[in-house]
Amino acid sequence: MEVRRTAPVKLVVPDEYHDDLHKTADQFLHCANEASDYCWDNISHEDCVISNSKARNALYDRLREETDLTANLVQEAIRRAVHAVDSGVDRWKNGKRTNKPEFTSWSIVYDKRSATFYRNNISLSTVNGRIECDFELPADSPTPYEQYVLSDDYEFRTSTLQYDQASDEFYFHITTRKIDDEGEAVDVAGSDDTGHQTVLGIDLGVNSLAVSSTGTFWSGDEYDHWIQEFENRRAEMQQRRTQSAHNALLRLGNRERAWRKQYIHTVANEIVDEAATHECDVIVFEELTDIRDRLPHADWHHVWAFRRLLEYVEYKAPEQGIAVAQVDPDHTSHRCSHTDCGFTHEDNRDGEQFMCLKCGYEINADYNGAKNVALRYLRKRQHSLRSSPTSGSADAPVDVRINGGTLNGDGYQAV
Ligand SMILES: [Zn+2]
Repeated sequence: MEVRRTAPVKLVVPDEYHDDLHKTADQFLHCANEASDYCWDNISHEDCVISNSKARNALYDRLREETDLTANLVQEAIRRAVHAVDSGVDRWKNGKRTNKPEFTSWSIVYDKRSATFYRNNISLSTVNGRIECDFELPADSPTPYEQYVLSDDYEFRTSTLQYDQASDEFYFHITTRKIDDEGEAVDVAGSDDTGHQTVLGIDLGVNSLAVSSTGTFWSGDEYDHWIQEFENRRAEMQQRRTQSAHNALLRLGNRERAWRKQYIHTVANEIVDEAATHECDVIVFEELTDIRDRLPHADWHHVWAFRRLLEYVEYKAPEQGIAVAQVDPDHTSHRCSHTDCGFTHEDNRDGEQFMCLKCGYEINADYNGAKNVALRYLRKRQHSLRSSPTSGSADAPVDVRINGGTLNGDGYQAV
């Protein structure tokens, strides 16, 4: 169970290169989907291919032939699919619902050879040769080159280029791994692993779209209300079978998509503001894998909203110097978040109400969840710092921002 941390950096991509990147992404996704087709077996997980070299031997020549991608990009696309199939096989073995991985969202994985860092810019392979893009950074921050390439503490691994359609902007999500004196990997990714951190936990749900560990609620009512309105209007229009009704239906679809995005953007901005106001360094979410199993009442439009929300916060938080992390859920909604308790039982929760059967602690269930997300990050970090040979201290300096104070490993402090 690894805490994943992202360090997204905004890129300044000159207009004439946009097309090259869009085509590169199309072809990258094509390769990943072809590899997923090859690796996945619908009948038995034992027949799925989870060996990267086997998949590469079978697919590499054909995919090079079919695309204009460089060798490294084709290999990363295959690797990405094998990795996703491997995770799918794990879920399948554990009896969880699973399907062939499909790659639809805009992203390209770059390794050390297909992305080259310079002090203030980066050179990226595309279907049309190399392009150079500047980093867009606050004036006083170190460049990724200084932070990750020159550093002895970090090793650049692979990174993902992503595109935000709403703002027409490109972000390079840099993945590094921290290494010890011998150059061995330390089990936490990201920057600033020994510095003090203050954490904002976010719980995602149906009653409240999001709740922060500081006790701010983003209600799901307005979102649900408008989704319902759009559905009603769609149903009316579908009764009429004229061309103009058909056109109106298409326009309604566009309006709905625009509205949804705008709504989630607003919530994402407010979450980032909440973190900035409380001087948090990290916003922590749960992993969204299996979210449908954990939230049986969630519709597809809720799941859509959760994914977009995470994505938008990942884009926006770095502008304020805030990182985004995800943790394994681990009974977030059934565990007591009261200091020193942690009692976990399904009956602790009854709908929106949480009452600990052991210590009697009563609290809104979603707020309890948000605190637990942040506490989980704190525990995980204490554990990995303790087991890290480069960290001499057993006390990991992490605070969790909660309503009216902070929590750390030793308990509650009012502010
Ligand atoms: Zn308790």
